[in-house]
Formats: sequence, structure tokens, C-alpha cells
Amino acid sequence: MAHDGTAPKGFWTETAQLVRAVSRAMGVTFRNLWRRPVTVMYPDVRRVYPDRFRGILALTYDTETGEENCIGCRLCELICPPQVIKVEMLKAKERNWAKTFTLELYACEFCELCVQVCPTDAIIMLKTFELATADRRTMLLDKDRLHALGLEHTPSWATGNKLRDMQAPPKAARADGAKEPAAKGDAKETGA
Ligand code: SF4
Ligand code: SF4
Repeated sequence: MAHDGTAPKGFWTETAQLVRAVSRAMGVTFRNLWRRPVTVMYPDVRRVYPDRFRGILALTYDTETGEENCIGCRLCELICPPQVIKVEMLKAKERNWAKTFTLELYACEFCELCVQVCPTDAIIMLKTFELATADRRTMLLDKDRLHALGLEHTPSWATGNKLRDMQAPPKAARADGAKEPAAKGDAKETGA
């Protein structure tokens, strides 16, 4: 009897179990040996990413005037869930500017909310994710770096204005005199 009270397995039983297990494992190995790999030799080989792929963030310039699009309104800062954007507005006569703009990309959730609220399409996402680094400090992006990234990489299709245009239009106003459906609580209070 074994210590745990069970009868010891015979030598041949254990050997048969071992052979079965090894055969199963080798079967899986051989089946996969002839399969096409699902990985690619990045960065020598690059996948084609979907049209709607959206990666790292950047700031944009107006293509006609060459001016920065950001007006320093801080909407992106206020909507950002992990609060990784900081903007200082510089008020001027003609228009406002971002005096400073920083984005802590290492803590960004890539939720795209900042892009969605931007009234001037100044902040966008790019069709790239290639900003890998071993030094977290390089992921603290200032205004110059964000503008440079915008010039370096292809922008994604989405801008704040395009995304807002895709949203369902507001419901038509109710005609005058039309009754609101009674809420549950109202029915009880009125004894209906
Ligand atoms: S993508 Fe989301 S988390 Fe990242 S900076 Fe924009 S709002 Fe913040
Ligand atoms: S990036 Fe857009 S939302 Fe953010 S401060 Fe500039 S203009 Fe405002």
C-alpha cells in the first residue's frame, strides 16, 4: 500500500501511461511542424493593418496656413480618464493657442476620447504603434514631439469632426401638447 492508502500502480501500467502521454505530445508537435506560422518576422516583415487601425497620438498643423490647430481649449485634458494630458492656454487677439501641451503616453488608455472632443481636429491618432522604448521618460510627449509625430506618420482616418458626424442625429422635438408617458412613480402618486 502507498502512504495515501491507494494501491501502488504496476510498472507496466505506469510505462503505458507514459508512452501514451509522450505520443500525444509528439503528435501535437508534428502536426504543428508543418503548419504555416501565424507570426511574422517583425520588423523585417510588417502586417497590413486594418484601415481603421488607430495607434499613438499626435498634434496637427493646419495644412493651408501651417499654423498649429490646437487652440488650448483643454477639452481633451478634461475628458481624459487617466488624466495624462496637461494643456496651458495662451490667449491672443485673433485666436488662442496651447502654450504648453504634454501627454504621458505611457499611461494612455488609447480610448480616443481626446480625439472625439477636439473641436479643431488638433489631436489625432496615427496608423502606427512604433514608439517602443526602454526609457519611460521618452514617452512623456511635449508639444514639439507631438507635432513631429504628426508629420512623421500617417494619420488614422478618424478626426473629432468625422467621429462626431457619425453619431446619430438628435431626436426630433416632440410636437406641442403631446403627453409625456407617465413614469412608474407618478402612476402610484396619482392613484391611477
Ligand atoms: S486616448 Fe484616452 S487616455 Fe489617451 S490621452 Fe486620449 S483621452 Fe487620454
Ligand atoms: S488638442 Fe483639441 S481639445 Fe485639446 S486643447 Fe487643443 S484644441 Fe482643445
